Amino acid sequence: MKKLILVKYAPEIFLKGLNKNKFENKLRGNIEKKLKDIDYKIITDQGRWFIESENLEVAIDRVKRVFGIKELVLVTQVEATPEAIYEEALNKVKASNAKTFKVETNRANKKYPKNSMEVSREIGGYVLKGMAGGISVDVRNPECLLKVEIREFGYVWTNKDIIKAVGGLPYGMNGSTMLMLSGGIDSPVAGYLMARRGVELNCVYYHSHPYTSERAKDKVKELAKILAGYTGKVNLNVVPFTEIQMAIIEKCKEDELTIIMRRFMMRVACKLAEKHKVQSVSTGESIGQVASQTMEGLIVSTDCADRPIFRPLVTMDKEDIMDIAREIGTYETSILPYEDCCTIFVPKHPKTKPRLDDMRKSESVLDIDALVDKAIEETEVFVF
Ligand code: ATP
Ligand code: MG
Repeated sequence: MKKLILVKYAPEIFLKGLNKNKFENKLRGNIEKKLKDIDYKIITDQGRWFIESENLEVAIDRVKRVFGIKELVLVTQVEATPEAIYEEALNKVKASNAKTFKVETNRANKKYPKNSMEVSREIGGYVLKGMAGGISVDVRNPECLLKVEIREFGYVWTNKDIIKAVGGLPYGMNGSTMLMLSGGIDSPVAGYLMARRGVELNCVYYHSHPYTSERAKDKVKELAKILAGYTGKVNLNVVPFTEIQMAIIEKCKEDELTIIMRRFMMRVACKLAEKHKVQSVSTGESIGQVASQTMEGLIVSTDCADRPIFRPLVTMDKEDIMDIAREIGTYETSILPYEDCCTIFVPKHPKTKPRLDDMRKSESVLDIDALVDKAIEETEVFVF
């Protein structure tokens, strides 16, 4: 008898037809990377994956954060014999302290002599007898749902043994994106959601030394590190942004500062993406959330992009974004009160409906290419 972790991967992976193997291999590689410093073994039994480890708790804690996994289940593996299975079934129901139960059986091993209906019925009888009246069957809403799978071995678990995992698709299966990562609440969530769909993350942070402090930079590094806890290695590009901001302040109209600055952010992100062979750019913008995130604002910043821009939060309410931030562990870091480059040079009355032609004209007094190239040249890369 052995305790193992059953890995249930996202049902979407089953829909990948001929590509299913590629998705499975990627997922398996990602699990292996997460566990490389502990003792473990991945066992397969008729298509199911199980993790065996001396350190089950650590393994669960790490693997539940691997994208592409829907659930982990702490199962007991026994010999595929009625005696062993029924005994373990009774133990599990007893341990659950439930007043009602139901048995569901899945027999994948067609050589096993009884079908699933028979097995469920027999286990039901065995448990009722073993509990001597302390429990009854409830097929609609049982407190304890006992699951039995019969493969090469028998596996037994209850609803209490199921651990929710992050879902999504295996990281690295769906191209790459340059995430504009600020120290705020939104962009780490945006990055998480892209990564969760299998998109590889690179990050860029615009740092306005000395107007934004080292502490603000450290906060962004910390956020990149938290994201890397899900994805594995993440690069963070820290771009010196002060010179660009100063040039805008000096030469452009006050109410256009934010919009023109956002156009520069977009250009730099795309240039960095090109340099590092990254296919797209992502941001934490949500339609209507602040003055620069009106439809017009988004159109005007998108104008500077030479590749797809993804805004995974575009339709989400702030509250929902905050809920995800709490769930993924970025919230506490995001709310640390350090200044941000956008909040330092905020116009009193920012334009909410910028016109593309006007913005192009306003910024034409700047040496755009030189400013962008210099910022890229002076970019520092940190790896997490
Ligand atoms: P966040 O909570 O992600 O900071 P926000 O609600 O504060 O977003 P803005 O400050 O308008 O909104 O920024 C919109 C998006 O632009 C951010 O989600 C992020 O993707 C990007 N961004 C803003 N400031 C920076 C920065 N200093 N470095 C990198 N990206 C930034
Ligand atoms: Mg912000």
